[in-house]
Amino acid sequence: MKRIIERGRMKLRNALNAGKALFTAERYSGSCPLCGCETIFTKTSKNLRETFSCACCHSYSRNRFVAKVLLDLFHIPPPYSLHKLVRMRPDLAVYETASYGPIHNVLKDLKGYICSDFFYDVPFGACNKKGIRCENIEALTFPDGVCDLVISQDVFEHVRLYEKGFQEISRILKNGGFHIFTVPLNPFQKTFKRIEVRNNEEIHLAPRVYHGDPVRGGLVYTDFGIDLHEILSSFGFSSEIQWCSGMDGFYHAIYWVCVIVSQKI
Ligand SMILES: [Zn+2]
Repeated sequence: MKRIIERGRMKLRNALNAGKALFTAERYSGSCPLCGCETIFTKTSKNLRETFSCACCHSYSRNRFVAKVLLDLFHIPPPYSLHKLVRMRPDLAVYETASYGPIHNVLKDLKGYICSDFFYDVPFGACNKKGIRCENIEALTFPDGVCDLVISQDVFEHVRLYEKGFQEISRILKNGGFHIFTVPLNPFQKTFKRIEVRNNEEIHLAPRVYHGDPVRGGLVYTDFGIDLHEILSSFGFSSEIQWCSGMDGFYHAIYWVCVIVSQKI
């Protein structure tokens, strides 16, 4: 009996050590679903969503999972590469709420690709000196029903009134179009507004939290939770939260990230 218990302990210890090795490793080799390269992923941060930079396209875990979900959504066959989406679906009208990053670097080759950022000193719909369009997600300047796909990564937690943001995205999407997005979603709680905006006044209901965002200052307005489905449903979206799997980690160094696939119905 003693021997069985000791063997069980040893197995548990080995499993824990294997898990520890995985999360303490500095480099992995694997395939990048975003750029399509066989590559090396290097640990750059303790945050598993934001680390393991691809040596080819500098994507992080989160970027790669967005790419993989997009490829599956548009039925692009393996091997994975976001460049294949550009080649196989040149018709797509895409709006991305960022003017930089590895997803942007690939999708900008689409004829129907528009991106933007937010600048305090540029009118909405106009461009700054570098030619980057300024948009406010709560009041987009695009006409109705023009996009097949909207992509936002870790933006909605920073939107003052996320309700207006979802309304605007629904407005500019074609029927059946998709909003593919990430937020740091907490599956163990309901959505919580850290800051309520009433009559344009900001009421802080929790201590201020900032994410490193050089453009907007990174103040977090909302912690999204497991009820995000219901919120999206109230704005006319059918949604699914896709979590990465162990295989995504094994092959693509994708960890601890979910992507929300939200379709205008
Ligand atoms: Zn890559």
